[in-house]
Amino acid sequence: MAMVSNEDGSQKWTWTLGPARLFTVSSLRSHIDNIILPCSDGNWMWNPLVSGKLNILAWRACKGRLPSMDNLFKYGISSSNWCKMCNAAPESTDHIFVGCVVSREVWLQVCKWWRLLDCSYNSCRELLDCKLKIGGHQRLLMIHEAIMLVFMWVIWSYRNVKAHGSNAKSHTMLASEVQALSHLWINARKRRGQNICWNEWCSDPVQEPMSVVFFLSC
Ligand SMILES: [Zn+2]
Repeated sequence: MAMVSNEDGSQKWTWTLGPARLFTVSSLRSHIDNIILPCSDGNWMWNPLVSGKLNILAWRACKGRLPSMDNLFKYGISSSNWCKMCNAAPESTDHIFVGCVVSREVWLQVCKWWRLLDCSYNSCRELLDCKLKIGGHQRLLMIHEAIMLVFMWVIWSYRNVKAHGSNAKSHTMLASEVQALSHLWINARKRRGQNICWNEWCSDPVQEPMSVVFFLSC
């Protein structure tokens, strides 16, 4: 916002973010996105099949910018850097999503569901880049990546419940949560009158979404 003077000497506030100097929600949204979203990272591809908060979580994880115990310990906020999920190793961002025995167990179940053979990764970046090795239709790769983003969201939510000392459900239920949430989000992107059948989604997640047209050009 800026104060400008009119020809008659009076003053008024004007919006400085839009070319017409008029306030619009889209110009404000664009300005906020430019500040907080990972568009400055040339290697980062925004996945439109899932909520923006999942993309941001994955981007922050890849950058090591989550409040993991090692980061909290480094800045003196926590007296311990131990993993809250397994209590068996120091907690880094990569440990939470790809190294911890808890997340690996969940990820193996997700791989079994998606019939993936190569399930071992050393970092969050490797986890998200694995779609490049899979090959296939662009839409299938996007759906596959969306599943990984949902997986990271579910693991991070579970980790937060454990870190705050609340009663967490058994981690054996987390793979089912990945199935349910990914179906919910991806199904919301389909065109009216089409549907990703839940039973087919559970039994054949590779073929079922390919028969549905999304709003997106994927
Ligand atoms: Zn752990």
